[in-house]
Formats: sequence, C-alpha cells, structure tokens
Amino acid sequence: MTTSATLFEQACRHIPGGVNSPVRAFKGLHRPPVFIERAQGAYLFDVEGKRYVDYVGSWGPMITGHADPDVLGAVRDRLDNGLSFGTPTAIETTMADLICEMIPSIDMVRMVNSGTEATMSAIRLARGFTGRDKIVKFEGNYHGHSDSLLVKAGSGALTHGEPSSPGVPASLAEHTITLAYNDIDAVEACFEEIGNEIACIIVEPVAGNMNCIPPLPGFHETLRRVCTEYGSVLIFDEVMTGFRVALGGAQAHFGIEPDLTCLGKIVGGGMPVGAFGGKREIMEMISPLGPVYQAGTLAGNPLAMAAGIALLTKLREPGFHDALAQRVETLCHGLQERADAAGVDMITQRVGGMFGLFFTGQSRVDNFAQATACDADAFRRFFAAMLDEGVYLAPSAYEAGFMSSAHTPEDIQLTLDAAEKAFAQVHQ
Ligand code: PLP
Repeated sequence: MTTSATLFEQACRHIPGGVNSPVRAFKGLHRPPVFIERAQGAYLFDVEGKRYVDYVGSWGPMITGHADPDVLGAVRDRLDNGLSFGTPTAIETTMADLICEMIPSIDMVRMVNSGTEATMSAIRLARGFTGRDKIVKFEGNYHGHSDSLLVKAGSGALTHGEPSSPGVPASLAEHTITLAYNDIDAVEACFEEIGNEIACIIVEPVAGNMNCIPPLPGFHETLRRVCTEYGSVLIFDEVMTGFRVALGGAQAHFGIEPDLTCLGKIVGGGMPVGAFGGKREIMEMISPLGPVYQAGTLAGNPLAMAAGIALLTKLREPGFHDALAQRVETLCHGLQERADAAGVDMITQRVGGMFGLFFTGQSRVDNFAQATACDADAFRRFFAAMLDEGVYLAPSAYEAGFMSSAHTPEDIQLTLDAAEKAFAQVHQ
C-alpha cells in the first residue's frame, strides 16, 4: 500500500526536505507529514484512505470548505477558454470592483500571485511614495519571504534588524526595525526618535503566524496615529485576516483604516493569488501610472480570478461571518472545558474565523516572547494524538487554526471527543 511515509521518502530525493513549503514537513513533530489525496468540505483524505477533520484549510483559503462546488464550477466554466492570455481580461475588473466594494479603504488594487508578492510590492510602493527606506514590522509577524521582511530583532524598543535567514543582505536588513507586537510604548518611542525616516509600518492586524494573537486595545489606534502624524504609510497585511475575521477583514472588525492592504489566501479561492491596494494617491505611483515598478506574467490569471470571485461572492451571504465565529467559539469553549478537566494548562484565543491553542499557565498571550515560552512538547503530544484521532491541526505551535462553514456541529463534537483523549496524553 502507498503510505505517507514511503511517499515522503521518495519526495525527499529531489525536493529539499520533501516539501515545497517548510511547515508542511512536520519538522520537530517526530513523524513524517501526511500526504493528502483529496479533500471535500471539512475533510482531508490521505493516501491511505484515512479521513481528517481539517482546521488548516490549505492555510486559510478554504473558508467554505474544500472543493466548494461553486468555486470549482466557476473555474470549470472558464477552463476551455484557455489558461492565460497575458492581456487584460474583463474578469480582472470584476475582481477589482468586488475587492474595492468589500474593503472600502481600497480605492485601487493590483493583483499578484502570492501573499509574499503582495507585501513585497506594498513595501516598495510605500518606500517609493514616501522617499524613505526604513520600515517597521513586529516580532513574530510573518509577511512572506521577501528580503526586507525576513528580519527578526532582539528585544528592545528600537532594534536594527539582523537577517533571520542567510542570504538576506545585512545592508538591506538594517532598514527593517522590529518591535514587539502589542507594545504601544515601543511604537511611540520609535517614531519620536526616527519617525521622519520611516516609510511604513506593516502589521498583521491579528497575528496568525505566532499562533493567534489579537491586538490589545489601542495598539492599532497608535499605529494609525503615528503614521498619520509622521507621514508614514500604514500597511495592514490581511493575507490571513482578509475576508476571514469579518467580510471587510480585520480593518472592518477593529474599525481602523489603513493606507494600504495586502491580501492573499481567500481572495484566490485556493488558487495562487495575492493583491495589494489602498489609497488612490499611493496606488497611482505604481507602474504604468507611476514610477514604482511592479509586474507579473500570470497576475490576474482568469481561472484564479474566477475561483476568487466565486468564493468572495459566497461570503457576502448575510450572517456568514457570525456563524463562522460562533463555530469557533463553540470549539474553543469545548476545548477549554476538556483541557481544564484533564488538568492541562491551555488557553485559547480567537478572532472571528481564526483561533489558536496555547499550552501555557498564563491567562493570555500578547507577543512573540510569550508565544514561544509556551510548552512545545505538550503541543507536540496533543497534535500527534489529534492526528491519530482524525483531526488535522496546523503542524506547528505557531500557526493559527482556521474554521470553515463546512464544519458541522458533528465535526466539532468529533473534534472535542478527540481532544478529550488527546489531553489525557499530554502529560504522559
Ligand atoms: N502575510 C501573511 C499574514 C501570511 O500569513 C502569509 C502566509 O502565510 C503571507 C503574507 C505570505 O503569503 P504567501 O505564502 O501566499 O506568499
């Protein structure tokens, strides 16, 4: 029988680490990754025929479940017309109009092929618009893997970045300032010192790449205020939160208007798509209107646009996001009850359709230092037990979980029953 273990062995021959994106490798979890054959609704089916209730959703896009018939149908309808033309197509305008309608802070939008491209381009645009080089990001926020954004920093309010990957030139990394997430004082101190040199702040409005960390009250307001005061561009990286925590993204949920917004994941309905957009006066700096260069052979691909439009349209169903958040709440409350009953120190955090579990005795987790202080071994044991029970959680303690509208009350109950057994194994 074909097993995930044998497929992984074969994959490792010609693919570095056997995967095309590192977190898929289950590194640190002491087991090979699961190879998936197909997916439907809330479920993944592996090559051995085992079914999993999936809380990863292809890392976010599958908000209405896998193989959504409306999304697949939209792609099928266009398929025979050809895959790509490298010319303007009407469907790109439909997509742009839809995005601008759903996210009112976006006056103009450019489609790209990934979240990484969206953030990389938004940073270039912010630098071109302001004529400044320095950017501010937050520790534990992930914005894709472009050089300027692959930078971490030591603690401290104002630290010039060290590259977090070989290959990122130190001379580039030094323009990236990394502050602690949710640290309002650090943001204010940084801008008081060098605000006039800062091109932009880029932030995950709910941090989803160090588990799930919501902003503290006043954090986003401070970002907005200092950017306005110092003429810096506020970039919300809504690649994960966009269309997920609310129809209009985190900016609608928290009532903050950024200058630029980056999108990915859901906007492509499961196809390789990203987008960045925002205020007209900034977006008009992009080529061919302006001097800031940005381009893409496959950008605005018609099949990808068809998938994205079909998915976004479904999310406009009244009550969609409330129902999604309700499911997350039911799941998180159920998990908390079972952890408490098993005597396991665990808390959950959530915003709308995303959530996270932290194995910690603390009552909340607000930043990277606190997130990385959680019990990684407890997570590993819990994750492995859940996988055995047929529940697919993100294979890392530092990734958010995603709910879909395809998850039924029975799926959530199955998850909670599995968790009851899994929590019992955490201390073994
Ligand atoms: N920004 C955020 C907030 C993300 O979560 C991710 C990916 O997980 C990215 C950017 C990069 O997107 P992509 O993997 O499509 O390049």
